[in-house]
Formats: sequence, C-alpha cells, structure tokens
Amino acid sequence: MSYAYVNKQGAAGGGAEAAETPILCETCLGPNPYVRMSKQAFGKECKICDRPFTVFRWNPGAGMRTKKTEICTTCAKVKNVCQTCVLDLQFGLPVQVRDTALGISKSGPSTDINKQYYVNQLEANMDANGMIESSVGPSSRAGQEILKQLAKQRTDPRGGDAYRRNRAHLCSFYAKGECNRGDACPFRHELPIKNDTTSKQNIKDRFHGTNDPVARKILNASTAAAGLGAPDDKEITTLFLSALPSDVDEATVRTFFVQNVPSLRSDEIRSVTMVPTSNCAFVNFRSRNAAESAAERCALRMDLDGQEIRVAWGRSRPGKKSIKA
Ligand SMILES: [Zn+2]
Ligand SMILES: [Zn+2]
Ligand SMILES: [Zn+2]
Repeated sequence: MSYAYVNKQGAAGGGAEAAETPILCETCLGPNPYVRMSKQAFGKECKICDRPFTVFRWNPGAGMRTKKTEICTTCAKVKNVCQTCVLDLQFGLPVQVRDTALGISKSGPSTDINKQYYVNQLEANMDANGMIESSVGPSSRAGQEILKQLAKQRTDPRGGDAYRRNRAHLCSFYAKGECNRGDACPFRHELPIKNDTTSKQNIKDRFHGTNDPVARKILNASTAAAGLGAPDDKEITTLFLSALPSDVDEATVRTFFVQNVPSLRSDEIRSVTMVPTSNCAFVNFRSRNAAESAAERCALRMDLDGQEIRVAWGRSRPGKKSIKA
C-alpha cells in the first residue's frame, strides 16, 4: 500500500500520472485543501465493470467516516460521476435526475456479456490523457439551469444531503442502548431513520440512472411542484400541451418527446392529436409509465423549440371507468 496527496485544486498530487489520481467530488474529498490518501493498486473490483482497480481511502475530516473509491476511473469518466458517491461531478445530483433534465438517453452495458466489449471500446477511445468522450455531451442551457437550481436545494444546509454523506456511520450499540463509549465513540449516536431512501440504493442502478430511490424522490418533488403529479386515475396516459408555437406539428411533438425523455421509444407514443386552432395538442402514451416519464421531464423543463409551453395531465373520461372490457 502507498500514499498519495490529492490537491483539491487538481494541480499537484498526481502530476504526470493523471490516471493515478482519483476522480472525486468536492463533498467526498471533504473541506481540507490537501487530502492524504492510502492507495492500493488493484485493491478491489469495480462495482460496475467488475475489473480490479486502484482503491483510494481517506478521511474527509474529523468525526467523518473513512471513504473509499467504489468504481473505477473509466466507469466514472463514462458517466462523469464521482468514484465514491457516483453522483454527477458538476451538479452533485443522481445520474437519473441529470439525465432527465438534460434529456440524455440511457447508454452503457446492460448485460455481463457485452460488458467486457463495452469497456474495451471505451479504452480504445481514450486519448493520451486518459480522457474519454463521455455520454454526457454538451446540452442546452435550460437543462443546465434546472440542474443548478436542483443542486442548490440539495446543498442547502437545512435540507441538503451533501454534508450528511460524510458523517460517521450510526453506532449499532447505541441503537440497542448498549454503547458505553460515550463521547469517545467514533460512531454516530442517533437512531436510524425508518424508510431512509439512501440505505436502499443500489450502486449499479444509481450509476445507470434507473430505479434510483433518491432520484425518484427529487423528481417526484419537482413534478409535484410543477403541478404535474400523476393523477390517481391510472387510465390517464395523456398529456395536454398548450401555448404551442404556431408552426409546431405532430412530427415536432413526437421528436421532442423521443429525444428528451430518457428511455422513451417512439412506439411508446400511441398518438398525437393536434388542435391547431387553439395551439394545443394531446399526446397519448401507450403506458402509464411512459406518460409519467414524459411528465417528469416536462416538470423540469417545459420548452419546445426553445419556447416555453404549458403541460398538464389529461382528464378522466367520465363514465369510461365503469365499463369493463
Ligand atoms: Zn469500472
Ligand atoms: Zn462524491
Ligand atoms: Zn457508540
């Protein structure tokens, strides 16, 4: 095992050996300008691609938990995430939230069979500096603005989670009323919170931006705030668009949803009914899931061709519910 010093400004530390420096977010690094890290070559298998990688361990500050890198630098670069918390490096938000706001489609290996091929391809595309073109390309300013707003809410000391991530782990003896170490105990003397979403997170889901309970919480909150919370009537799979620019046609609407809603396939839009006289359109989705994903994306940004539009859920059809097919 060896040690490395990481300068948070990114200047010193690794020097010529850029690949020897971990990719980490500010929060995981902690408040100190220089962080002393232990370094273990091929210390563990990457939790995403299963290949052994260099594991770094460090303490982000007094009373904090020891942190270590969980995924390899290649995987971190692909998604532009921190090697430890797997949150977006720029915004500190879950991949699923970022990709919804920016309209980034899912990419990357989904099965073990093509995983090795995928990693090999990535490394073949790496340039001399070890940089790879990640799936996070340049995207519209609107999406970036939304993410800045969401990130601000997350780092708010009253409700943010940023500082909580480095806290010492809970003392299991304290929870049972059996800890007698008092103030000298390195663990946190608090009772565990029931239904804590962070404890149910799976690192692969978080990385790929699917089924991430923390992302779901953030997206649900923004969807509710935008008045686009999913209606109770599960048969409603239609979104109503209004204040459309006059030159918008059916093809524009379809393209907008397919390009901007992560994971939405074109065949998941059942129909688009334009009402040109009132600059409105009804977009009918094949499944409730597809409609909810579309509403989530619209809640974050309601713009079409750069112009702001209005979006609402369709209404229940009176009487229809009682008819059983
Ligand atoms: Zn990896
Ligand atoms: Zn981090
Ligand atoms: Zn204790």
